[in-house]
Amino acid sequence: MRVDVISIFPEYFAPLDVSLIGKARERGILDVHLHQLRDWARDVHRTVDDTPYGGGPGMVMKPEPWGEAIDAVLAADPAAQPRIIVPTPSGVPFTQKLAMEYAAEPWLLFTPARYEGIDSRVMAEYGARMRVDEVSVGDYVLAGGEVAVLVMVEAVGRLLPGVLGNAHSAVDDSFAPGAMENLLEGPVYTKPPEWRGHEVPEILLSGHHGKIARWRRDEALRRTARNRLELLAALDPETLDKHDRKL
Ligand code: SAM
Repeated sequence: MRVDVISIFPEYFAPLDVSLIGKARERGILDVHLHQLRDWARDVHRTVDDTPYGGGPGMVMKPEPWGEAIDAVLAADPAAQPRIIVPTPSGVPFTQKLAMEYAAEPWLLFTPARYEGIDSRVMAEYGARMRVDEVSVGDYVLAGGEVAVLVMVEAVGRLLPGVLGNAHSAVDDSFAPGAMENLLEGPVYTKPPEWRGHEVPEILLSGHHGKIARWRRDEALRRTARNRLELLAALDPETLDKHDRKL
């Protein structure tokens, strides 16, 4: 997968050299290209923002540098089109489902903003020609979109074939489609069996796979009910029962 990121802080993306994603890049599974937005500014100060029309506090990112920067990235492969992802708190929520959808794309272009965001005409311009998603990583406001891009690239990157050591671990994850849809994973344990007086639940030491699977599902249901009741409420009862009957 090719990933392009245009930002005024390309240095923010140093973590993409590390761990799973760093290894995926080394192995050519993920091909990341970082671009400095200011390279497309026209004045000596390399200005990329201006005051908002209609007044109000803060600055808005100018359309011209964004347009030229995006055009330059698109020119890298005129035969293909990336899916453009614009991080913004006013976008649709980024979910595991969306991460899976992005993991199936050959090319993603992220446009993290600063200030009050990007002049809306940029999204209108490219939205008329290709898929442009305005996406939020949560109901809070970050200072800039770089961290949001790191979140999305990591969530998408670990789903690419060959990135996770054990591909099965993504299947058991919280939110994974199938049995874990809309569910949070329950507690996990490793050795030793007793630590500071806390014992590993006995069932996990029993070697009884069927009972362990049932226990894990009950814990997932319990944790979801406790922490995210709305996820359980949104589940079709039939689907929930179907997965429960299997255990
Ligand atoms: N005025 C904007 C609003 O209230 O919607 C917030 C702008 S925020 C200070 C600057 C930039 O950070 C945004 O344009 C976006 O790129 C990024 N950002 C902030 N919060 C985000 C979130 N929850 N999800 C995705 N991107 C976010």
